[in-house]
Amino acid sequence: MPTPELLVKNLKVSFAALKKELIAVRGISYQLNQGEILALVGESGCGKTVSALSILRLIQEPPGKIVSGEIFFAGKDLLKLKKKELQDLRGKDIAMIFQDPMTSLNPVLTIGEQIIETLLRHTSLSRKKAREKSFRLLEQVEIPSPKQKLDQYPHQLSGGMRQRVMIAMALSCSPRILIADEPTTALDVLIQAQILSLLKKIKNDTQMSILLITHDLGVVAEVAERAMVMYAGEIVESGSVNDLFRSPLHPYTMGLMESIPTLETTQQKLSKLKEISGTVPSLSQVPFGCPFHPRCSEAETRCKTDKPKLKKISQTHSVSCWLH
Ligand code: SF4
Repeated sequence: MPTPELLVKNLKVSFAALKKELIAVRGISYQLNQGEILALVGESGCGKTVSALSILRLIQEPPGKIVSGEIFFAGKDLLKLKKKELQDLRGKDIAMIFQDPMTSLNPVLTIGEQIIETLLRHTSLSRKKAREKSFRLLEQVEIPSPKQKLDQYPHQLSGGMRQRVMIAMALSCSPRILIADEPTTALDVLIQAQILSLLKKIKNDTQMSILLITHDLGVVAEVAERAMVMYAGEIVESGSVNDLFRSPLHPYTMGLMESIPTLETTQQKLSKLKEISGTVPSLSQVPFGCPFHPRCSEAETRCKTDKPKLKKISQTHSVSCWLH
């Protein structure tokens, strides 16, 4: 049995808006195993980022609120930790990188100062040793001329280099878990491939567990071992990447798969790519029954009134759909 590094149970997150409670995450449960890359996939607004931010309690409260659930890491429920305990854990045991490194890096501090600051906050290293370690971290994330980069400011680096700096900062305290929220979305295809291969290498070298948030199934196929598909705040299908790509079961997952352009998709055939009709429901109008039913070509009468539960189909594969 794989060892769970992180165990999320029945997590529910809501936001207050115009005196209404809008539920963004509707009771999701999953585990992230040691040394694996687990992807959380879905369209914008499906709740994937909110659920990831909840792990480190980075949801702004109010208007956000973690309504219920448990998140276990190292035998502790993160939702019950005191503020100080949580601050000690952030960056040290669980680190996070975001889509746009420019908004996460401080524009008025050099790269070196920012990494050193993280090291001084979480380790007992002296400033001199912290600078030496910062240099080694930049080498580890394959930044050319690392000594020179330490003294540069974020705006002097390209988007790909800034993302490597973010990864170096995330790695600085050797965290057990890395949460990567759309880490390659703002990058061009070539740089995206380099960053993904760097994440894979780091995972293999360190046995770190990575929770990868993405809307891009190409990214999932490239690096993840398992994936969970989210729709309207719920996990509707989960399985090994093999399960999901070879035999998707939920009509939403099938729709996502059919909308991926392949190497065989020529310019002429692009117009024939299938799309999922309709749009993701807004948080204030999540349909009764199966939340996907207004967009589902397989919907039956009961789909409009009864909600299917996530059901295990095999050892690795689960789906919530009345067809299964
Ligand atoms: Fe479609 Fe019904 Fe399955 Fe929902 S439960 S995905 S509406 S067939």
